[in-house]
Amino acid sequence: MFKKILIANRGEIALRIQRACREMGIKSVVVYSEADRDAKYVKLADEAVCIGPAPSAQSYLNMPAIISAAEVTDAEAIHPGYGFLSENADFAERVEKSGFAFIGPTPESIRLMGDKVSAKNAMIKAGVPCVPGSEGALPEDPKEIIKIARTVGYPVIIKAAGGGGGRGMRVVHTEAALIHAVQTTRSEAGAAFGNPSVYMEKFLENPRHVEIQVLADQHRNAVYLGERDCSMQRRHQKIIEEAPAPGIPRRIIEKIGARCADACKKIGYRGAGTFEFLYENGEFYFIEMNTRVQVEHPVTELVTGIDIVQMQIRVAAGEKLPFAQRHITMRGHAIECRINAEDPYKFVPSPGRITMWHAPGGPGVRVDSHIYTNYFVPPNYDSMIGKVIVHGDTREQALARMSIALSETLVEGIQTNIPLHRELMVDSKFVEGGTSIHYLEGWLGQHKR
Ligand code: ADP
Repeated sequence: MFKKILIANRGEIALRIQRACREMGIKSVVVYSEADRDAKYVKLADEAVCIGPAPSAQSYLNMPAIISAAEVTDAEAIHPGYGFLSENADFAERVEKSGFAFIGPTPESIRLMGDKVSAKNAMIKAGVPCVPGSEGALPEDPKEIIKIARTVGYPVIIKAAGGGGGRGMRVVHTEAALIHAVQTTRSEAGAAFGNPSVYMEKFLENPRHVEIQVLADQHRNAVYLGERDCSMQRRHQKIIEEAPAPGIPRRIIEKIGARCADACKKIGYRGAGTFEFLYENGEFYFIEMNTRVQVEHPVTELVTGIDIVQMQIRVAAGEKLPFAQRHITMRGHAIECRINAEDPYKFVPSPGRITMWHAPGGPGVRVDSHIYTNYFVPPNYDSMIGKVIVHGDTREQALARMSIALSETLVEGIQTNIPLHRELMVDSKFVEGGTSIHYLEGWLGQHKR
């Protein structure tokens, strides 16, 4: 096992990884930007290295600075967390070439899955069902594009092969709007992702977002840890996640889960990963794979009892998975609410000083957050300041526990989306379970203030 790991991230996930290291008796090195100097996990780390000023491009995305921090502190492995460099194949390659272990899949896997066109092709080959659409990237010829759209059937969605974070997508309802939409998405994708390649999918009208968590080692073992429902989204960004997905028969999950684990073996995948699907009318359609730990991993940890971050570390160190598929069981129900520093209804970011923080507690409550009273939320990064996660024997109990936990949570000095979460926990459709990815936007439209 590694003796020392460098954590190339910030915020709650830096703290989460640090906790996993502590439990395993591994020393942690934290890198931080000038804006994160006073963060709790920086003070708690065995060693901390400042890697640059606040802007991410000069700190958390600064590959040479991160690698030299690993060199001077004599770390053996680098955990990239999520976001930042976690899905950057060049970074993974540089980490390994510099003699460190990358806690994640191989650069080849990251590259294959980072391009959504090659990812989809690999999944089709591995027998994972995908959203019907163009075979690979769209051609230049407008006549060809029109033909493809007629075969797929309107409405269609044009997506950037290199897209991510909910950006680089455009829905098209009519042939008249098609070519212009393709051209605009192409040029936006070129500017934003350095890759103008786009592809087409059937736009599913009322799907749910259901994803499968996988774990694979370097000895060709792969398992799935059940599913998560992440349909509660705004602008393609998740805000509430739960496991299991309400109302989906276990045999359907088991079938798709086994396909995903099998696909991992076929592509030589290692580490933790997530296969994202849209689920509609009893069918799963693959949309993309995330080759890293996800924000919502705790709901799976609570229902399976498996520590995903520790597993990532073990697998990166060359250990075999300590369990087989038949050993994995799911107990009860877990829900996560992402707490963002923002106006709860207008979604304008609300950085600044937290004058008072009181965390919830009690049976089945977990809080993953790096904030504290008098912590300053820097304006430079993502607005998520933590996650409240609950576990109950039933979904009903989890919902009740979440409502209570949110009512106990106090954040003063800045605005947060806690009021929105409290309303959603008692919303009749959400309580019923199984709302689609468009539900929240519709709800917000009806609850204008
Ligand atoms: P990103 O990498 O930017 O997150 P995804 O391909 O994962 O992009 O899609 C993000 C979200 O966009 C999905 O969760 C879903 O809400 C919506 N979406 C993507 N593809 C489709 C589709 N074919 N039909 C309907 N909605 C889609």
